[in-house]
Amino acid sequence: MSEGGQDATVGDLVVATRQGAPRAVARLISLVENGAPSLREVMAALAPDTGRARVVGLTGPPGVGKSTTTSALVRAYRARGERVGVLAVDPSSPFSGGALLGDRVRMNEHALDDGVYIRSMASRGHLGGLSGTTPQALRVLDAAGCDVVIVETVGVGQSEVEVAGLADTTVVLLAPGMGDGIQAAKAGILEIGDVYVVNKADRDGADSAVRDLKYMLRLGSAAGGGGGGTDSADAPGVAVAVAWSPPVLRTIAPEGTGIGELVQALDDHARWLASSGEDVRRRERRAAEEIEAIALTVLRGRMVGVQAGGVDVLARAVAAGELDPFSAADRLVAGLTG
Ligand code: GDP
Repeated sequence: MSEGGQDATVGDLVVATRQGAPRAVARLISLVENGAPSLREVMAALAPDTGRARVVGLTGPPGVGKSTTTSALVRAYRARGERVGVLAVDPSSPFSGGALLGDRVRMNEHALDDGVYIRSMASRGHLGGLSGTTPQALRVLDAAGCDVVIVETVGVGQSEVEVAGLADTTVVLLAPGMGDGIQAAKAGILEIGDVYVVNKADRDGADSAVRDLKYMLRLGSAAGGGGGGTDSADAPGVAVAVAWSPPVLRTIAPEGTGIGELVQALDDHARWLASSGEDVRRRERRAAEEIEAIALTVLRGRMVGVQAGGVDVLARAVAAGELDPFSAADRLVAGLTG
């Protein structure tokens, strides 16, 4: 593929991205999705411009109001004059949205705002799932001058755990009447949230959802778990940031109720991250996962490559009982690194 079919060189795209040009940003994210060979050059050029954006992960079951909440958050950040990126990652879809989420009606109000970059991405089929491509798309948005990037993903399977690995701050969104507490415990989301939101607070059952969630979070932290805080014991009344206890908020996203409090909680968490040193730890962990995902992609490319007969020849020998799988794996690895 000819780099998205455009005439601009990679160098031009990088320069335009640094200036925040939406088309250049979109094209570079397409290069990320397509795994274009020029990505190396792009990432090397962008590296000095990255590391500034705050990454907010937003996850929760389908229909709880993630996209409505994202849109309300975008509005709130725009009102403060911040540039915002949105990556909507659909872990179940093999289709990536080169288009700007045209199907997502609730995002339409931001479509003409050149301080907002909205992009949907597919993660299925990429080695490493969410961690395969999303960190690089984040880099592009970061370099384009986004102050905040919201990574929105449906909480199914592994994706909510993956989004927590990517984000500086993870918001878990729930809604009343979904058997919240039990669902939450099952999905393991009680360990990953830095901020919990019960959206649809206009619906019956919001109070009990909040109560259940608080109860389960308390149980979790008493058992030594807890949302991203340190291991130190609670120290009530001590002003030093030792541990973060995830707040449980309520919102009615379509009317913006509670969004101010959510933004406040995200700001508080950002300050806690900075004062505790957790921000550096999370970013280094994210970088480690990214390096690993890239290395695995390179290795897999070599594995299916032509050299040394590749996996196929070895597989034939193992299937025929001529070779044991451990020796075959040793030969494969020797071939990859040699
Ligand atoms: P997502 O699938 O998690 O992204 O959820 P959406 O943002 O698409 O919202 C799903 C549906 O719930 C839409 O019809 C929204 O208008 C509606 N919705 C979102 N937030 C609220 C809320 O706070 N109260 C009520 N009553 N409906 C909401």
